[in-house]
Amino acid sequence: MSTTLGDTLERSAAKYPSRDAVVYPRRDQRFTYAEFDERVNRLANALADLGVGKGDRVSTVLFNGSELVLTVYACAKLGAVFNPLNYRLPAGEIEFVLNDAGSSLVVLEADTREAVAGARPDLETVEEYLYVDGPAAPTAEGTDAPDGGTPDFARDFYEVLAGGDASRPDADVAEDDVYAFIYTSGTTGRPKGVVHEHRDMVEHSLVCIAESGIDRNAVGLSVLPLYHCAELHANLFPRVHVGATSVIHHEFDPAAVLRAIEAHGVTQLFAAPTAWNALLQVAPEVDADVSSLEIGFYGASPMPRRVLEGCMQEFCEDYLQAYGMTEIGPCGTFQHPDEQIPKLGSAGLPALNHDVRIVTPDGDPGDEVEAGEVGEILFSGPCTMREYWNRPDATAESLREADGKTWYYTGDLGYRDEDGYLYVVDRKDDMIISGGENIYPTEVEDALFSHPDVVEAAVVGEPDDEWGERVVAFVVGDATAEALDSHLVESDDVADFKRPRTYYFVDELPKNPSGKVQKFKLRDEETGEEGHPV
Ligand code: ATP
Ligand code: MG
Repeated sequence: MSTTLGDTLERSAAKYPSRDAVVYPRRDQRFTYAEFDERVNRLANALADLGVGKGDRVSTVLFNGSELVLTVYACAKLGAVFNPLNYRLPAGEIEFVLNDAGSSLVVLEADTREAVAGARPDLETVEEYLYVDGPAAPTAEGTDAPDGGTPDFARDFYEVLAGGDASRPDADVAEDDVYAFIYTSGTTGRPKGVVHEHRDMVEHSLVCIAESGIDRNAVGLSVLPLYHCAELHANLFPRVHVGATSVIHHEFDPAAVLRAIEAHGVTQLFAAPTAWNALLQVAPEVDADVSSLEIGFYGASPMPRRVLEGCMQEFCEDYLQAYGMTEIGPCGTFQHPDEQIPKLGSAGLPALNHDVRIVTPDGDPGDEVEAGEVGEILFSGPCTMREYWNRPDATAESLREADGKTWYYTGDLGYRDEDGYLYVVDRKDDMIISGGENIYPTEVEDALFSHPDVVEAAVVGEPDDEWGERVVAFVVGDATAEALDSHLVESDDVADFKRPRTYYFVDELPKNPSGKVQKFKLRDEETGEEGHPV
């Protein structure tokens, strides 16, 4: 039996033709499953008319919207390879991804046209551009149509869509065909194109459905970016699979999110802990009725106790955390609502049908460490990528066979407690080894962050003749090296050898477009900042 992503939509359309599939308030759009499936067919046929065939890469540089959702399912039905780009990428990085992926068609919008236009002269393979904010695009009542018209190098997405035939596209797609190239966030270096097959996504949806318990009555709000696998694979695809409703929120705005929960009777919401915190901050002013919310999902990091308890009081009682990465689907572990407080700070237990191992860093899959000991986290599961696109060396390094399974080396460090719960400690590349001792920067950063004058902090190792590496800190905030050092001494949480020897005060930390600090830039580049030794 072969199930593709396109099949999951068609089955929901057959079972629940009149249930709402996709609601996109920004354009006043509300599509039932039957309507949405028909539009997907139209777009798929229209793309085929433009010459897009099986295996061709179709890229999006889009904020959240119904167009991105249409494009991913249209690609699935055609057997074309979906390739969503982060909408905040500058022209140079758009150029890198589109050339690396060998994209033949790009979908863009008013807010990304400048960056795409900037990349265009250097694009080697792109033949067509579709613009979603052109004159044919619907706009919600009371909002202005985006100005500027369709760029001269692009076609109007809605015009092209209207010209597509409504019948199911004639394409032969199987579960082991490539569904997408999803580029990683680029936190530890250049983004890598993760190659996922249809089967990975079908399996991943089933895992998420089983772990979260969502069913066809769920109404989810897509707030986090749909170009990232966390919202797309772990939330939207499972909803389509079970016939639930997705309300698409264009761009994160905490007050608007709370009002949308009330307006659409949203029952589930996925957001990073920082975004939950932002919702918590605005909640008293917004005064929206969010009683429809049944469960909150989060990932990217554990939830600080203060934020978790605040959300429990303000929004709903139940929260579910997922931990993972683009390469494995992304979900590899889940921490369930009843485990939030008892296992605070943990990432939970292995996801359904997944195995987790903790091994000595760079060791073999058999080199497992004892409970409580920190090592590299490995996953084996049914949704792991086929490979990194164009990166055979990186693929060979991160996927290894052992005991009849394929193990993915996450590059994350963690440990398991005596009950088997996983705790993520830090990234392997970020660990500092000073005088033979392992130092996990997150621990030092958390202690620095507890100082009221510290806005942000990143701790890295600098080469040192005597110690191998020495600990240094980059701090955003109005503080002094002496004050921070005394703070660490007084807090009593940070051993002497872990205390930064030098502080650099900077205006901002280098971050990828998702907001994660790129420590490799702090390590590798001359910052030009004056260091303050202690
Ligand atoms: P790149 O691989 O290009 O350096 P990235 O690893 O940041 O970028 P993603 O796949 O988006 O790209 O992020 C996965 C990483 O995010 C994980 O490896 C882990 O370090 C972190 N992460 C995700 N979820 C959690 C969580 N619940 N708790 C702690 N860390 C998490
Ligand atoms: Mg990664």
